[in-house]
Amino acid sequence: MSPKKHDPMPLEALTAIEHLLTDEEKMVRDSVRRFVKERFQARAARLYEEEQFPVDLIPEMAEMGLLGASLEGYGCAGMGAVAYGLALGELEYGDSGMRSFASVQGSLCMYPIHRFGSEAQKQRWLPKMAKGELIGCFGLTEPDSGSDPGSMKTYARRENGKWVLNGSKMWITNAPLAHLAVVWAKVKPEGSDAVGGPESIRAFVVERGTKGFETPTVHGKMSLRASATGEIVLNDAIVPDENVLPEARGLGGPLACLNQARFGIAWASLGAAKSCYETAVSYTRERIQFGVPVASKQLVQEQIVEMASEIVKGEILSYHYARLKEQGKLTPQQVSLAKKNNVGWALKIARIARGLLGGNGILLEYPVIRHMMNLESVYTYEGTNEVHTLVLGRALTGLDAF
Ligand SMILES: Cc1cc2nc3c(=O)[nH]c(=O)nc-3n(C[C@H](O)[C@H](O)[C@H](O)COP(=O)(O)OP(=O)(O)OC[C@H]3O[C@@H](n4cnc5c(N)ncnc54)[C@H](O)[C@@H]3O)c2cc1C
Repeated sequence: MSPKKHDPMPLEALTAIEHLLTDEEKMVRDSVRRFVKERFQARAARLYEEEQFPVDLIPEMAEMGLLGASLEGYGCAGMGAVAYGLALGELEYGDSGMRSFASVQGSLCMYPIHRFGSEAQKQRWLPKMAKGELIGCFGLTEPDSGSDPGSMKTYARRENGKWVLNGSKMWITNAPLAHLAVVWAKVKPEGSDAVGGPESIRAFVVERGTKGFETPTVHGKMSLRASATGEIVLNDAIVPDENVLPEARGLGGPLACLNQARFGIAWASLGAAKSCYETAVSYTRERIQFGVPVASKQLVQEQIVEMASEIVKGEILSYHYARLKEQGKLTPQQVSLAKKNNVGWALKIARIARGLLGGNGILLEYPVIRHMMNLESVYTYEGTNEVHTLVLGRALTGLDAF
């Protein structure tokens, strides 16, 4: 058997961003890392197997400032983009379901209230959401409207001075747990039977307990099993004026929210990739075949080097884009590039790691197959890989291929 010469070099030695982080950013990252290690990791496989989201951990996530982390005021942590990206990466090192919960609560439900809501609406919902006392979700996708949200059929009509909502939303993260849902719907002008176009889209905060509002759970997912996913069914659900976000008009409203969420997801997905990478390195160093550790074989090392290179490149890209975001200079095209690149590679890395674990790679005992299955959803949600390719293709060629 060939001797082990030295300990493996950590990826941080290649990424070399540590000296660029503030003490506060390091503290945020380290506390989320500790939380995931001490409070979540041992339960991860069982939660995945049993299709359970760990609701008992919500107060601790809130205490660490992870709910609405990048928002200012209203009890939110006001983290910069680097701290936010690092924190989400640590959560996703645990499980993409944990990170999805935080992304949806903060970037998809609290963000639209913060950006498009009135002062009274912000005061009413945001402090409780930051504390995890109120859980939110974001209803955009429908059974027949995914990549093309402008084709949504859910609509709101005016009746007796109130809004009446009808339609259904599909694939809604956190919906089964949610106390409130930001629902995007087209408006039917008063006295008209015709539903408006994408420019008529508005945001309605529908609260649990509203008659005609239901959130049945989507069962049978083989991915993101530790995340609660549901439908939103709206059957003549009545929403008062004070629950309509006044500043959200047209498709730009939901797209602005998605842009926030996608940035965090792009960085975070590398957390899942790192977990797969580290598992593959330690497994192949221990696994003996043909009398030597399989990690001593060139074909295995080539795969390890490819995984490491892509994680390091993705992290450097994320760090750079996060600093741009802090200066208000990050463009939607850059967000598309980061989402497409990082999530695409995270999924490939998970598949490579799965292969390197051989038969053991399909067992839940190791985190790899769980991450791999989770990343299949991350690849699709928040703009599929193809949609981000089209965003970049349009920008780079000046021709719209949607
Ligand atoms: C686990 C999970 C959680 C989710 N959470 C939420 C949530 O909280 N809120 C929410 O609103 N939505 C959520 N989604 C929905 C998600 O955003 C959509 O699944 C996604 O936008 C894709 O829509 P679709 O599934 O209808 O696929 P489709 O749009 O039908 O796409 C099918 C295929 O066609 C491709 N395609 C589509 N248009 C084009 C084109 N013009 N050119 C080339 N290829 C194209 C797509 O890339 C894809 O490969 C979630 C999804 C999942 C799986």
